[in-house]
Amino acid sequence: MPDLLNPDVAIARILEHIHPLGVEQIPLGAAYDRILAETITASLNIPPFANSSMDGFAVRAADVAHASKDSATRLKLVMDIAAGSVAARPLSAGEAARIMTGAPMPEGADAVVPVEATDHHFLAGDTSALPDSVGIFNAVRPGSSVRAAGEDIVAGQTVLTAGTQLRPQEVGVLAALGIAQVPVVRRPRVAILSTGDELVEVDQPLQAGQIRDVNAYTLAGLVALYGGEALHVPTARDTLEDVRLRFGEALALTPDLILSSAGVSVGAFDVVRAVLAELGQVDFWRVNIRPGKPLAYGYLGADHIPFFGLPGNPVSAMVTFDVFVRPTLLKMSQRTDALPTIIATLEEPLQNDGRRSYFRVKLHHDDGIWYAKLTGTQSSGALLSMVLADGLVIAPEDTYEIAAGTPLPVRVLKDYILFTS
Ligand code: AMP
Ligand code: MG
Repeated sequence: MPDLLNPDVAIARILEHIHPLGVEQIPLGAAYDRILAETITASLNIPPFANSSMDGFAVRAADVAHASKDSATRLKLVMDIAAGSVAARPLSAGEAARIMTGAPMPEGADAVVPVEATDHHFLAGDTSALPDSVGIFNAVRPGSSVRAAGEDIVAGQTVLTAGTQLRPQEVGVLAALGIAQVPVVRRPRVAILSTGDELVEVDQPLQAGQIRDVNAYTLAGLVALYGGEALHVPTARDTLEDVRLRFGEALALTPDLILSSAGVSVGAFDVVRAVLAELGQVDFWRVNIRPGKPLAYGYLGADHIPFFGLPGNPVSAMVTFDVFVRPTLLKMSQRTDALPTIIATLEEPLQNDGRRSYFRVKLHHDDGIWYAKLTGTQSSGALLSMVLADGLVIAPEDTYEIAAGTPLPVRVLKDYILFTS
């Protein structure tokens, strides 16, 4: 089909002019899931000081080398060290200090004997005076139950590299290092605009001939999935004036990307084309995929904001988002894909029409092999097929009859399927 644009060529053309977004500083509390923009080097040791990993008694290991259950070694109890405090003085030979988990080791001590291995079983919250001595029932090695300074992280060490997506554990490391403001890649701000006379808002009653606006919500969800911030623009009616008005509103948000849905085919009321021609440079592509042609792509406004005009059918809008908008957002935000593509074996034959086609499938796993089965109707308006689908099987270009048993790539739509099946 020579008049249809190859999808890989289309993606390459799009990405050529997409640039990574800049850096912003955000509070650590908001940093979860963001992309770190700078490599982080530790400015201090973690832990910053040697401390006890148990509630017990700080000792000199040499003093208790002969301690046993039958023959306790008695040490003079000279101080109490709580977490958050420091020892009043160094520990001398023959002495012990009561110490709590996380409290700094006193100078002179080199090990901690857990409370269970002593004759002093203090109770939580008991602040009564310390006894004069403590009996130790176990010998301990030097370093036992002590967390050395820098055991986790050494000052000067590179701990997180630029481009890391911040999970809870990375956020925790930043907290430990005292990084209250975090340099992250800015999130793409994406204006989403639905078009069509038939659309009504989700909370409005339906009149004859009307349907509710679905794409505004599916597209906003997809934008969020890929780390963007969705900006809602009110629905444009199929008139030149209204389409102009709403695209004007989208541009006024100065977004990083504008997505519209519907109105880019050649229907009598598809006035979007005319307005786009006024507002920027937009190409209408017939891309060799199904579902998904036609697709509009270009730049709008004086700032040349990248623009996608996605098809109106809800499944088509989602699939074209996945194929074209997803890589765009990933490049802007320097993210890696949240969802994998795997290889699965077809459980039933597929009829393709020579385009690169995306079929909704259920996946299951058996003996190390993934199998894919169609979810039922593949109508591009049938959104429940996306709800049922674990993934989209991708039938390659120039294929027609694809036999059961053929292995094909599948874009996984929910990643937990890989762990649960
Ligand atoms: P169009 O590209 O305008 O011809 O729209 C194609 C199909 O998608 C039509 O059946 C529309 O009613 C439907 N459609 C368009 N926009 C939406 C939307 N935002 N939500 C649900 N369906 C839509
Ligand atoms: Mg329409």
